[in-house]
Amino acid sequence: SSLDEPLLEIRSVTKDFRGLRALDDVSLTVAAGEIRGIVGPNGSGKTTLFNVISGFYRASSGKVRFAGRDTTTTRPYTLSLLGLARTFQNLRLFRQLTVRENILVALDRTRTHTVWQYALWQPGVIRRERRLRRQAQKLLERFGLTDFADAAPGSLPYGIQRRIEIARAMATQPRLLLLDEPAAGLNGEEVQQLADIVRSIRDRGTTVVLIEHNMGLVMSLCERVTVLSSGGVIAEGTPAEVVAAPAVIEAYLGD
Ligand code: ADP
Repeated sequence: SSLDEPLLEIRSVTKDFRGLRALDDVSLTVAAGEIRGIVGPNGSGKTTLFNVISGFYRASSGKVRFAGRDTTTTRPYTLSLLGLARTFQNLRLFRQLTVRENILVALDRTRTHTVWQYALWQPGVIRRERRLRRQAQKLLERFGLTDFADAAPGSLPYGIQRRIEIARAMATQPRLLLLDEPAAGLNGEEVQQLADIVRSIRDRGTTVVLIEHNMGLVMSLCERVTVLSSGGVIAEGTPAEVVAAPAVIEAYLGD
């Protein structure tokens, strides 16, 4: 893969559900280092697009390239090993684990030791456990979660739970992070904190694509925005460009 190849490239992707065309010939490219916004009225195909990119759905036609390879038929677990992470609109934290354990599970996804090595408790295993614990502690600190490390996620305010989900996604040190409505349910101060978190994630080298309804956040955070309507791309450009585009105004008025 060449240096100026886009990190993510969607080429003419269509996704059909029985009679319904959720994505209709969608093409878009995201450069490494971008913070890209995906906006559009309800039902316009935003989450379906995330599901196709992250391998949860297979495109009916078209191609997906990620990090220089064709990932059109690559499954979610393999995509995660290749450096793709995502969060979900509805939080998917392990409720029976503590915050720290939620992070540890994500860090532990590349299991390098066999059950027998664990059973024998070999020095390499112990070193690895210690390393994972140190990494978990760093992530907790980086995302301001140390005070909540031993709490159950369900007992914490919603804004904190969202932050845990992002921290957990970042445990895999992804090249691309997909955030599905990260500001949903957050108050004004929490939205500001989220913006700072997303910028710091990008500044440390992870490209971010976010679906978001909060246009204030999109305007302040995203360099480029792609607008979907009825499964198709109707505009793309800077936030200022897309909000002024007649097709976008029309799509939102009809929402
Ligand atoms: P958005 O995220 O923009 O609100 P979605 O991608 O969730 O839009 O949905 C786009 C369209 O695809 C909607 O009409 C929705 O009902 C439909 N859709 C999404 N997922 C499925 C599915 N698994 N089965 C059938 N229809 C689906």
